[in-house]
Amino acid sequence: MSLLFDNVSYNYPGSTHGLHDVSLDVRTGELVAVIGPSGSGKSTLLKLVAGLETGHTGRIMLGGEDMSRTPVHQRHIGMVFQSYALFPHLSVLDNVAYGLKLRKVATAERRKRAQELLDIVGLGEFSQRAVAQLSGGQQQRVALARALAIDPRALLLDEPLSALDASVRGHLRDQIRSIQQRFNATTLLVTHDQEEALVMADRVAMLKDGRLLQIATPREIYENPASRAVAEFVGLSTILPAKVASPGRLDLGFAELFAETGSRSFGTPVHVLVRPEHIQPDPAPNAMNRLAGRTGAQRYLGALTRYDFEVQGAPKPFLAESPAPANEAIAVAPEHLRLLDH
Ligand code: ADP
Repeated sequence: MSLLFDNVSYNYPGSTHGLHDVSLDVRTGELVAVIGPSGSGKSTLLKLVAGLETGHTGRIMLGGEDMSRTPVHQRHIGMVFQSYALFPHLSVLDNVAYGLKLRKVATAERRKRAQELLDIVGLGEFSQRAVAQLSGGQQQRVALARALAIDPRALLLDEPLSALDASVRGHLRDQIRSIQQRFNATTLLVTHDQEEALVMADRVAMLKDGRLLQIATPREIYENPASRAVAEFVGLSTILPAKVASPGRLDLGFAELFAETGSRSFGTPVHVLVRPEHIQPDPAPNAMNRLAGRTGAQRYLGALTRYDFEVQGAPKPFLAESPAPANEAIAVAPEHLRLLDH
């Protein structure tokens, strides 16, 4: 079932904080990750879908139906939070069956359904355990099974992995994604972890100050960020001020580079974005966009070294990644210089 935000605005009572004119759609079976700095409105977006905050303007439509006046318990939405929010005194099975009990599904039927879901999340043999006897990662899988048990119209995941160890997180990320796809569940995932967003999502929506800055595929948002704010938030980069010097030429103050300037006219101020993997170490002496300088701080990452490359006169070093750091020069191909308009 699709989920649509149509010009949604919401202010917390007595404040100007909340959401401003947010329009976005989550297609049936799609996972949209919502990212943004703390306080950007991510949780508010989820709370409005769930009906935990009310009084917005604009429309929130689920399967073509306006949810604005539908009470929480009739929205039929599955939720998984950072805190597992399970009932510690109930068995694993009863936790998963809980939503079905509320919906007055007969005992035998709800036990069967709960057991099926536990099998799917790989916890079939734990059904009679107390929740407290499970690890954090297992508890989060119980929470996912519980959310899916009611056959929800949409699934809301609020930082579901952030309380877990890094080792568990990576594995659970893949599991959640594959279960979400298997159920074709229309899903909003809130995360502060941009890597998690890029790995898990069909599309990524970036919020800042309650506004939607961009919604696009992980590749698109990384390679073609719509603004400086998005570029700075997603992935590592070097961002420098520049001006269009002539068609196809950029003036960075300390150097002139070839770049795809499009229809921008002479003197147009822009920011230029370079991703670390697009910096070529020690290019040929006559290479295009060659910049001489020296390597500063280095961080050894195993397969790659991440390093600062200092170019004389540049306001800050270039952040680069390659198997070995540059000795005396770097180059960036024109097609790898992204221009961000002011
Ligand atoms: P995020 O989830 O991205 O960290 P939130 O959606 O929680 O952001 O918050 C968005 C904005 O609304 C923030 O400025 C926050 O301080 C404010 N806010 C959140 N909850 C409340 C509340 N209950 N009352 C007043 N302001 C709130």
